[in-house]
Amino acid sequence: MSVIYDRVALIGLGLIASSMGHAMKRHGLAGHVAGHAKSEATRSAALEIGFCQSVHATAAEAVRDADLVVLAVPVGAMGEVAAAIAPYLKPGATVTDVGSVKQAVVAEVAPHLPAGVQFIPGHPLAGTEHSGPHSGFASLFENRWCILTPPAAADPHAVARLRALWEAMGANVDEMDAAHHDLVLAVVSHTPHLIAYTMVGVADHLGQVTESEVIKYSASGFRDFTRIAASDPTMWRDVFLTNKEATLDILGRFTEELFVLQRAIRMGDGQALFDYFTRTRAIRRGVIEAGQDTAAPDFGRTKVDP
Ligand code: NAP
Repeated sequence: MSVIYDRVALIGLGLIASSMGHAMKRHGLAGHVAGHAKSEATRSAALEIGFCQSVHATAAEAVRDADLVVLAVPVGAMGEVAAAIAPYLKPGATVTDVGSVKQAVVAEVAPHLPAGVQFIPGHPLAGTEHSGPHSGFASLFENRWCILTPPAAADPHAVARLRALWEAMGANVDEMDAAHHDLVLAVVSHTPHLIAYTMVGVADHLGQVTESEVIKYSASGFRDFTRIAASDPTMWRDVFLTNKEATLDILGRFTEELFVLQRAIRMGDGQALFDYFTRTRAIRRGVIEAGQDTAAPDFGRTKVDP
């Protein structure tokens, strides 16, 4: 593939940024990738791993002459980073981000950016429970969605170019407004994470009583909750602090549904339970048909625990 941006600056060098660096390198999409992260340890790791060609002690230095600047820091840090880079952005540059929440990022970042710079927020729906510069890999975005939430006044050419970058890294790209993004993500990602955190917390309390049994028998469904609940605490704290209304809305609906099922169990209403589980099974089939998961037993894990 050919170069899409001559110079890209990655601000934050963790899972998402390092995966972008690897993917851009693999497909030859950037002439030069510059990087900046808060700690010297992360900056030197990025250089050593080789997903950046240069690293810089400040974000301001990293964005100099960049045609594309990617903010890949926790949502709660986006505003301060935008303020730090604003005076150094190249006229005509595009600034994007990869934050898991969009309305709060727009509110924090947009006011700092000078006229003549395009701000096109984005969010790749791809990740793992690992973080840091060593956790990234080039294929992370393949066959995953990336949602862009360009403002109405965004330059269509700048949007098309950013879309082309994500597509070249293997993603499918959709556009929607930031508020809709936050509601959709509250349903498909944010609330499920909260439920996983809660379930693991409940088991932890039970663990005081049953000790090792929670771990010993964890293959029966609980293991997948523990994987989700191992996700980065900073990132998820920021998600709930910044997507408050949508997650509270979906959590309210979830609690109501839980009471419906609780009542069916209490009343011995097998038909209600059967009908409910039949509906949810069809949704799972839809996820597999859409290519977003594997139908292989045990989610395609190669090594199956006894
Ligand atoms: P990560 O692996 O924890 O990396 C975060 C990076 O940001 C680190 O390199 C950190 O530097 C740097 N950083 C933090 N505060 C900074 C600051 N003030 N100035 C400069 N650098 C700073 O995080 P991630 O998983 O890549 O997530 C990054 C963004 O992507 C978040 O907004 C998250 O919501 C979003 N996202 C995550 C996922 C996922 O599954 N993980 C999926 C989609 C989107 P140090 O290492 O030096 O501390």
